[in-house]
Amino acid sequence: MTGLTDQEYMRYSAHLLLEDVGEKGQLALRNAKVVIVGVGGLGAPVALYLAAAGVGHLYLVDDDHVELSNLQRQIIFTQHQIKQTKVDSAKASLTQLNPHVEVTTFAQRLTLEKADNELANMLTQVDLVIDCTDNMPTRQVINKICVTQKIPLIVGAGIRMEGQLISFNAKQADSACYHCLYPFDETAEVHNCSTSGVLGPLVGVIGSLQALEAIKHLTGMPVSSFNRLMRFDGKTLQWQHLSVAKDPQCSVCSSNV
Ligand SMILES: [Zn+2]
Repeated sequence: MTGLTDQEYMRYSAHLLLEDVGEKGQLALRNAKVVIVGVGGLGAPVALYLAAAGVGHLYLVDDDHVELSNLQRQIIFTQHQIKQTKVDSAKASLTQLNPHVEVTTFAQRLTLEKADNELANMLTQVDLVIDCTDNMPTRQVINKICVTQKIPLIVGAGIRMEGQLISFNAKQADSACYHCLYPFDETAEVHNCSTSGVLGPLVGVIGSLQALEAIKHLTGMPVSSFNRLMRFDGKTLQWQHLSVAKDPQCSVCSSNV
């Protein structure tokens, strides 16, 4: 592996000063492949911070187009990108921010059936998946893929003035999964930011923490939200922490030992 270039030493000097990152951590970031599913209120800060941090390869998955009502919180987009695909618009912003980062886009929704060869193939070779979606069916699909492929997963959610963060790692036998925490109910009512509302900085807080946890994971630091549901109340700024244990009956991960 080649070392950092002079340009990289300057760009990442604030990382290099940190004992927990240093040159070794920066090279680990440069070699990392991270999938961001959902480029919205959460995915925007996640993608921006990871690109700024020098994560070598980002894969963006989202089938939506930029709308005027997205700009209240999805800070990776600008007014002139309305109607363009979110993944291509985000790629343009990320490349401007850091041209060293490779960005691959998938303008499609992630489903178990529809994962085409290119997308399915990509998912077998990544280091980390970050769930920044806004709906339960896609979250369950992402979880299933991560359990099957043994890919670490960082999940964020934000609605109204409440946020949630939790991480799993199917490489570890004691890891719970998203399905242990929220068994899927197809009849449940769907709530998302477009139907229930959200404050922009709320998803900014949760997305920034997802990026922080991602950098910690990639550089070998312990991930504080592993098997731990962190709930944030934007009204009072109070946090609640709940330990989540693996469900031995879970239909998704119980055979993962
Ligand atoms: Zn499970």
